[in-house]
Amino acid sequence: MKLNEIKLTNPYLKLPEECYTRVKPTPLKKTFLIHTNEELANILDIDIEELYSDAFVDFVNGALQLEGSDTFAMCYAGHQFGFYVPRLGDGRAINIGTVPSSWGDQHLQLKGAGQTLYSRQGDGRAVLRSSIREYLMSEAMYGLGIETTRALALIGSEQQVFREDWETTAIVLRVSPSWVRFGTFEYFAHKKKLIELEALADYAIAESYPHLVGEENCYLHFFTEVVGKTARLMAEWQAVGFNHGVMNTDNMSIAGLTIDYGPYAFLDDYDINNICNHTDANGRYSFGNQPSIGEWNLRTLMQALSPLVNIEKMEKILAHYGRLYTERIMYLMGKKLGLDKSEPKDGELITHLFGMMQGLTIDYTLFFRTLSRYDGERTALLKLGLFHKPMNDWLDSYDERLKENSSTVEERQQKMLQNNPKFVLKNYMLQEAIDAAEEGDFTLVDALFNIAHNPYDEHEAYEKWAEVTPDVFKNKKLSCSS
Ligand code: AMP
Ligand code: MG
Repeated sequence: MKLNEIKLTNPYLKLPEECYTRVKPTPLKKTFLIHTNEELANILDIDIEELYSDAFVDFVNGALQLEGSDTFAMCYAGHQFGFYVPRLGDGRAINIGTVPSSWGDQHLQLKGAGQTLYSRQGDGRAVLRSSIREYLMSEAMYGLGIETTRALALIGSEQQVFREDWETTAIVLRVSPSWVRFGTFEYFAHKKKLIELEALADYAIAESYPHLVGEENCYLHFFTEVVGKTARLMAEWQAVGFNHGVMNTDNMSIAGLTIDYGPYAFLDDYDINNICNHTDANGRYSFGNQPSIGEWNLRTLMQALSPLVNIEKMEKILAHYGRLYTERIMYLMGKKLGLDKSEPKDGELITHLFGMMQGLTIDYTLFFRTLSRYDGERTALLKLGLFHKPMNDWLDSYDERLKENSSTVEERQQKMLQNNPKFVLKNYMLQEAIDAAEEGDFTLVDALFNIAHNPYDEHEAYEKWAEVTPDVFKNKKLSCSS
């Protein structure tokens, strides 16, 4: 499809008016294309040559409005670091419309496209570094098979804004089947706006859980689905070593997607206490806390839904969260370890493994990739840690467990290589790409995009990124400023 053949719809605007505010983007000056996602364009049925036209840059810049366009910002609230903030909303994201696709309806949104009613003190802009991080990381999560919002394009601009220093700006064209957050429900529940709350629940069900439309007790079933999706997402994050960094309820997707990429990190050395967000002094959103914060956040959603559903019934559903999380993480770890079938007793082997990795400060991704080639010969694995005994002890238990596998060593290795990525986008790699991009060189953005999309492939030219993170860059915290 050509750009001018796209017809946008705006289903969100059918909700009561308090759910959003109409706002026009404020285009940036002197813009240029940095990267565009041809694979996603295919899913959206947009012709590839359109992506490289001047009109496309104008479109991502909010300067070119397509047919049906009626742009708006969404209103939401949220608990930030445990404290309720009654109004947040899209302070720098402007929704430009919905398109049908082979993956169902997708909502397009420009992040960094100017101020909205919800900007508070903010300038409505996003700087280049944070936009590169969001653009690449959402695609990396997609490459890893983890539920996420996505991104179709990244444009840069010579226009500057002040953060800790003057920085250039950018816009990411984000794409998602849903932009509804836990905090969207909290907004209306706290204001006791029950008509809006119910309309929003109906909207979210139709958007993300259409099989529940018209079902009896559909709001309870809706909560059940969100509990399941959240438990599953938390397990996916833990298994791959992803630390989101800002799990405020406004950054929790009602559809169970990874959303709003800020000061996140992939683990370098395994550390259950890893904190990636500079402003998170107490480690509320540390790596190890993520599963329980997922549950805390679901509890706030439960409170928000309580005018629509009996809270005791929701409590009973929420009580299953721990079990759902455990089942999923056990399943994922079983796949990472190449076990034909995970068994409850594997909990001991997995706990032992994490204890060993924590003690030896071993690179999380490299360990599993190296283990994927394990055939009884231990040298490569022993090299990963300073001391040999803890690794040997764990490998003794692992060898015992592998005896129960019926697959051959080669079959196990093949499966493990498909479940343990060679590459994750560690912060030092992203920083290298950002440093070059700030000098006008986007080749590393291209390179990281390619490995992010296919993280299980060998990509021999980028071997250095599959190694241990250089010591100076390990487990660093990032600021929220973006
Ligand atoms: P975040 O921590 O990025 O999820 O943002 C929290 C809230 O602050 C959201 O409502 C954002 O839209 C808003 N926000 C963040 N940065 C800006 C900015 N530069 N201008 C306006 N609003 C912003
Ligand atoms: Mg956010």
